[in-house]
Amino acid sequence: MAWLDRTARTIFLWDFVMGFAVAMKYFFRPKATLNYPFERSALSPRFRGEHALRRYASGEERCIACKLCEAVCPAQAITIEAEPREDGSRRTTRYDIDMVKCIYCGLCQEACPVDAIVEGPNLDFSVETREELYYDKARLLANGDRWEREIAKNLELDAPYR
Ligand code: SF4
Ligand code: SF4
Repeated sequence: MAWLDRTARTIFLWDFVMGFAVAMKYFFRPKATLNYPFERSALSPRFRGEHALRRYASGEERCIACKLCEAVCPAQAITIEAEPREDGSRRTTRYDIDMVKCIYCGLCQEACPVDAIVEGPNLDFSVETREELYYDKARLLANGDRWEREIAKNLELDAPYR
C-alpha cells in the first residue's frame, strides 16, 4: 500500500501549493472591501437615505400640506396634520415619519410637487432605541437644513433623467 501513501501525499502537497497560490494571488490584489466608516464609496445622487424636509432660501417651508406623500406611502409611515395660516397659506402643524415602518421606496419624494420631502444622502442615522426613529417635523426640518447643499446638488444632477 506504499503507492497509496505516496499518492495521498502528492494530492495533499498539490492542494497545499494550489491553496497557497490562490491565497497569495488575493493577498496582493487591491481590497474589494472598504473599512467603513473610515472609508466610504461614492454615493449615487439617487441614493435614498434619511428623510428631510426642505425650506426655500427665504427660510419658508416648502411643504404646502397637500398630503400626497402621506397618501402614496405604501408603509403608511407618514402622518400629517395641517391648518391654514393667518395669511391663508396652508402649512403642516404635524409632520411625522415612523422610520421603523419606512421601506425607503422614495415614493414620498416622487409624489411631492414642491420637492419638500426628500430622502437625503445621510446613511449614518442608526440609533439605540426605537423611539429615536419616530421623526417629527422639527427633526425633519433640521435634517433639511443640515443637508440642503448636498440634497440640492443631487436633485440638480438627477434632473436631466426625469
Ligand atoms: S420612502 Fe416610501 S415608505 Fe418611506 S416614508 Fe417615503 S413613501 Fe413611505
Ligand atoms: S411634503 Fe410634499 S407631498 Fe408631502 S404634504 Fe408636503 S408638499 Fe405635499
